[in-house]
Amino acid sequence: MAATANHAANGAAGNGEPGDGRDHVIIFPFMAKGHTLPLFHFATALSIHHKSLRVTLVTTPVNLAFARSRLPESVHLVELPFPSHPPLPAGVESTDALPCPSLYPTFLRATALLRDPFAEFMASLPSPPLVLVSDFFLGFTHGVAAVTGVRRVVFHGMSCFSMAICKSLVVSPPAGVEHGGPPFHVSRMPEHVTITPEEIPPTVANFSDPDNPMARFMVENVELTDVRSWGVLVNSFAAVDGDYVAPFESFYQSGARAWLVGPLFLTAGETPERDEENDPEGCLAWLDERASRPGSTVYVSFGTQAHVADEQLDELAHGLVQSGHPFLWAVRSDKWSPPVDLGPDGRIVRDWVPQRSVLAHEAVGGFVSHCGWNSTMESLAAGKPMLAWPMIAEQSLNAKHVVDVIGAGIKVKAVNSSGVAVTAVVERAEVEEKVRKLMDAGGEAGQRMRARAAWTQQAAKLAVSNGGTSWVALQKLLGDLQKSYYVVTDKEE
Ligand code: UDP
Repeated sequence: MAATANHAANGAAGNGEPGDGRDHVIIFPFMAKGHTLPLFHFATALSIHHKSLRVTLVTTPVNLAFARSRLPESVHLVELPFPSHPPLPAGVESTDALPCPSLYPTFLRATALLRDPFAEFMASLPSPPLVLVSDFFLGFTHGVAAVTGVRRVVFHGMSCFSMAICKSLVVSPPAGVEHGGPPFHVSRMPEHVTITPEEIPPTVANFSDPDNPMARFMVENVELTDVRSWGVLVNSFAAVDGDYVAPFESFYQSGARAWLVGPLFLTAGETPERDEENDPEGCLAWLDERASRPGSTVYVSFGTQAHVADEQLDELAHGLVQSGHPFLWAVRSDKWSPPVDLGPDGRIVRDWVPQRSVLAHEAVGGFVSHCGWNSTMESLAAGKPMLAWPMIAEQSLNAKHVVDVIGAGIKVKAVNSSGVAVTAVVERAEVEEKVRKLMDAGGEAGQRMRARAAWTQQAAKLAVSNGGTSWVALQKLLGDLQKSYYVVTDKEE
């Protein structure tokens, strides 16, 4: 049933005094680092730059310490018990702790069980908050917000470019598309946006498969609540994503707007990462030793979710060593060890890496990346070109965005669409060749990539500065919410 909203004029539903709901923002991130961190940055930005707001972030017991250490004291934390949901092991409350990728749908179903504790928390508030900002995976939050009289702004952790493509492919599945087939135009997107069948994200490709647990979860818990949201918070900025806002918004009901307020880590302001908590392995000190060779070092990371096969790690190790460039490589596997001597200029780290500071370091000249959207923006905001090596989720589309649209990188040859791991092993010769190309600042391709990365770096800075597109979007989002602070009086949708 559609909710009936009482749109109150300023002052009618709350007097604007601290303590009524108008000054209160609730943020509920999904428990995956790539989804959580940008909302930490959003919470920080609100708390630092909009001091009249109270910010509450919802988390779970195991995630509490991580949240506390990365948020200002002014952000209030609320802890909900993480539901038990066998076969998910007890204590696994974040996707990076999953013992295997096949448990991802189980993890999602466990998070859906947070509905009742979340509803209790919302009902306990003395007055409806200004807004709930919650992850699209937490679809239940939409209904809970509606019955407690609150608008929901949804967050996905993705760009408008990739979200619009995903939604288009789900709503209008292209006919006759087969693996190995030619690129095709994606409906509702600008003419220049074509993708190959292999670039279709796995969940999208399997969307109508009743036996695909990821697709089932999306259909049952996410799709409708997502498009009924009041608005969409996007961790991106107009210079790189503006052309895709209108196509993306066209999939939402009730005229929801996409608010591009990123890169959120810049919106939040620089946070020092040179401490034990953020740099337990001393990555920055190691890079300092190479600072006399600016741009010499490759940074390699595939994020917090992709599981990379040992055979692939072996090939990568050989390829990196053969490239002759110093490298700092974040490896997730505890068990794998390199099959080759890495030498003094090759460094593997397995603990937390202060990635934004690493990318900004003068010694780093390029990023070998899985193209998670956060990593992508962090690289572009640091002005560093990428060797795009997409692995899971919508990463193939981010790779396309960076390489084919923005022009700030190159791709590895073998990409997969399996959804869990690299299916085709990228061999050492390919790694060596592509890393050399990435790091060749003087070559034609290297110069072009660097010029484009420098352009995005500048554009990102401008976007978050006073009067920039992201700065204006955030003011306007808050203004629009406050001028129509409302109370829903009917049942949930
Ligand atoms: N990250 C980090 N240090 C680590 C691991 C991850 O700073 O050791 C951050 C990284 O900078 C990025 C996020 O975690 O902001 C990962 O998000 P992304 O979208 O790049 O990839 P995902 O992990 O979701 O695949």
